[in-house]
Amino acid sequence: MSLIEQRLGEIKQELAAAAQAAGRDAASVKLIAVSKTQSIDAVRTALGAGQRAFGENRVQEAQSKFAGLRSEYPDLELYLIGPLQTNKAEAAVRLFDVIQTLDRPNLADALAKAIVKTGHTPRFCIEVNIGQEPQKSGIAPDQLGEFLNYCRKLGLQVEGLMCIPPQDQDPAPHFRALRDLAAPHGLKLLSMGMSGDFATAIACGATEVRIGTAIFGKREKII
Ligand SMILES: *Cc1c(COP(=O)(O)O)cnc(C)c1O
Repeated sequence: MSLIEQRLGEIKQELAAAAQAAGRDAASVKLIAVSKTQSIDAVRTALGAGQRAFGENRVQEAQSKFAGLRSEYPDLELYLIGPLQTNKAEAAVRLFDVIQTLDRPNLADALAKAIVKTGHTPRFCIEVNIGQEPQKSGIAPDQLGEFLNYCRKLGLQVEGLMCIPPQDQDPAPHFRALRDLAAPHGLKLLSMGMSGDFATAIACGATEVRIGTAIFGKREKII
């Protein structure tokens, strides 16, 4: 068994244990394997082990890695989890099943246009700057309601919220804050939790965890 296969198995067990400890069904938490900077071979190994949901940070990198795998794996699901520039909206809409970094009105406009033009209809999560950090992307928590209305008027299919909590703080209060923001708006999906904190995120209600390093090992480049 390869290392990637072994780690995937371990993560799935840890995920199930965290779900069980929270009184939740393991099937209520989706594992997104974050393959940014990893090779096609690494992705193929994960596919061979049954993994189908993958997260990438950059449109071009995802295109070069996954465009050819789609026909081989029709049930493959591709998530964009990195910042998106408006000039790449069309390419993103063509490639990704889910875009989790919807975070500003001009991006929503560009995505709505791209959907009309291409006929592709990805689903969305709105990224929230849950720790209100000046350098981070994401909509401010107190602007979520207004932004969500804006996106819905444009016809974007917004299903949930995504966040990356501040690095040197206990993530639990931030995860709970995201959960509490989502509920009153009827948003069911919570994309939160990475290699270091996914068990905490699951305890706080995560429905999707985004895990890279713990599956694929250390990334060579930092992006
Ligand atoms: C890289 C990345 C991850 C995965 O991080 P790991 O610590 O490697 O699990 C998750 N979410 C986002 C938005 C990322 O950029």
